[in-house]
Amino acid sequence: MKNKETDNEQTFSKAEIESAKKTLIKMKKDIFKEIDAGIKKGSSKDSTEYRGDNYDIASSERDRELMYMLGDRERKKVREIDNALLKMKEGTYGICDECGEPISKKRLKIIPYSNLCINCQSKAEEEERKRMNEDYIDHLSTLSLISDDESFKDSDE
Ligand SMILES: [Zn+2]
Repeated sequence: MKNKETDNEQTFSKAEIESAKKTLIKMKKDIFKEIDAGIKKGSSKDSTEYRGDNYDIASSERDRELMYMLGDRERKKVREIDNALLKMKEGTYGICDECGEPISKKRLKIIPYSNLCINCQSKAEEEERKRMNEDYIDHLSTLSLISDDESFKDSDE
């Protein structure tokens, strides 16, 4: 019965954290690289015009700029990756942000930047869907307010 130690599947060894960390950093780099390449391709001539003082702007400024170029999905992913990296530093990697329960290792293997357990994730997704729906309904009611005055009023009379 030597299984006791391996039973505790949720604890991460240093090596496991290290390799997850590498994966996360690579993922983040890849996202930025893609955006960066897109910018360079699009404006290779322009860049020579910015040789002046502007070129000294700190790289964090550039990071922010790149963040701005990201789509919502990528931006969310970068934020999640950063959060996961922070949790590694704090020693809470693999713990759900929401309920504090461990996130299954299987899940972390597929999505190393997941900060929520599967239960909280699906709850969060449902809430996001609801929120988006409400925004959409808001949007629709604004539209119908506008069109009510215009065209629909005299159709009944
Ligand atoms: Zn949870």
